[in-house]
Amino acid sequence: MPIVVFDMDDTLYVETTYVQSGFQAVCTWLTEAFGIDSRDALRVMNAVLHAEGRGKVFDRVLTEYGLFNRTNVRKCLTAYRLHQPQIVLDEATLPCFERLRVEFPLYLVTDGNKIVQANKVAALGLDEWMRFCYITHRYGRYHSKPSPYVFHKICAREQVAPQDVIYVGDNPHKDFIGIKKEGFRTVRIMRGAFKDVELREEYEADIRIDSLDELTVPFIEQLTGRGNM
Ligand SMILES: [Mg+2]
Repeated sequence: MPIVVFDMDDTLYVETTYVQSGFQAVCTWLTEAFGIDSRDALRVMNAVLHAEGRGKVFDRVLTEYGLFNRTNVRKCLTAYRLHQPQIVLDEATLPCFERLRVEFPLYLVTDGNKIVQANKVAALGLDEWMRFCYITHRYGRYHSKPSPYVFHKICAREQVAPQDVIYVGDNPHKDFIGIKKEGFRTVRIMRGAFKDVELREEYEADIRIDSLDELTVPFIEQLTGRGNM
């Protein structure tokens, strides 16, 4: 029986909405702790985000207000990681779950900070749809993607071969390279930060889609070699 496994960030919902929700939480803390105007702080953070990426945002915003030290950086990180995310599934996601779940077991495989990812899973209500949500860092960092470790756990749990397992993800740097060579089927959704990235063949998925609307029961059956081609 085919098994359908989903990535979470930028596959099921738009990841930048999580980042904004986290920045908002940090701004709330900056207001409460230092009386800083939260809209002003948010503007600074987004300017840094666009200019330099996510890594230095908290350092820079604290420096801007003369508050940069290790304790405050840590507090920003804590506010960001522990906040209750204000995020929602994409329009196409629930209908996709609804039609596929009738036929196939669904799973989630996601990398990232354990608490952050667990809060996202809860905010998106994914436990209701998935037979199990694998947050790879729970098994040790070295088992995060591209490691096939948790994918093999899914095979063992469902008593199926890799050829019966489809992974749907958006990041060609790590979502497909580790599992494709072991026989897993792969689908790349062309969206998010990586949508224009073109890598060598071994990093590519078997097939590309633009929307989860394209994931239908016959599509899954064909990809696992069970449908009539
Ligand atoms: Mg992703």
